[in-house]
Amino acid sequence: MFINLKTNSKSVMLDITDDVRKLVRESGVSDGFAHIFSMHTTGGITINENADPDVRKDIREVLNNLIPWENNYHHLEGNSAAHVKTSLVGSSEFIPIENSNLVLGTWQGIFFCEFDGPRTRKVHVKFIRNSEL
Ligand code: ZN
Repeated sequence: MFINLKTNSKSVMLDITDDVRKLVRESGVSDGFAHIFSMHTTGGITINENADPDVRKDIREVLNNLIPWENNYHHLEGNSAAHVKTSLVGSSEFIPIENSNLVLGTWQGIFFCEFDGPRTRKVHVKFIRNSEL
């Protein structure tokens, strides 16, 4: 299953929690795991607070400070900062499913992290039923 996204700026964290929950319902999996995987080299997946949007802002600002866009990189495409950020954030998350729901903490949300937008993006979501483990 896929979540198709359109990002509208250079750097943005899109909350995809509801999209993943919808796929959990469609999958019919009541007990197992969801694997959420970004199919891109300049956009990752992370779990963090989805209550206060300033947390997302802080994460983006810290990453921008650590990994400036211009830094004598070697990669000719000119988007090395986005590649480095993606490797730091990671490309996937693995989340338990119980009682047909994602097991997430009260403040946790799942985010697609765009580091070189705007672009069209694809997130792959795969489910494992507990009976298959
Ligand atoms: Zn590149």
